[in-house]
Amino acid sequence: MYVKRTPCTESLNMEKTADELKEAFDSVSPYIQKHTSQVCPSCPKVCCIDRHGRYEENDLIFIAAMRLDNLNCESDRPDTDPCRFLSEKGCSLPRYRRPFRCTWYFCEKLLDSMKDDGAREYKSFISALQKLQGLRQKLMEMNSA
Ligand code: SF4
Ligand code: SF4
Repeated sequence: MYVKRTPCTESLNMEKTADELKEAFDSVSPYIQKHTSQVCPSCPKVCCIDRHGRYEENDLIFIAAMRLDNLNCESDRPDTDPCRFLSEKGCSLPRYRRPFRCTWYFCEKLLDSMKDDGAREYKSFISALQKLQGLRQKLMEMNSA
């Protein structure tokens, strides 16, 4: 993974966008958490497998901009074993620290639970999620400029 060297102001802008992105993750997290805590404990096929706990290249841009450790450590677990970050209480990482797919993936059961929660809450969640995605896109564009 290659994160471009940028002049100081651009680097500060990237950090600012990464901070905003972290806040956006924090803002969508309680709503997602509310629903995963309702549907995931009884799930017959938990999606938190080790393969899904690895960062993609775009995740690493955010990780580098936030000056966080890259947690892509080697693991001898088979891809389909429970994710290395999965604890008895669910994921042990704060949401902004997880691979993006962990926030972006919604199984049917999860979506049904959200849709049953009330139109206003669902609409406001979708709008926060779109903001998050926009910020992530902006950060990727800044990195590739
Ligand atoms: S998100 Fe869906 S597939 Fe994944 S553990 Fe929860 S209920 Fe299961
Ligand atoms: S949400 Fe956490 S435990 Fe689940 S796959 Fe992602 S990193 Fe692993």
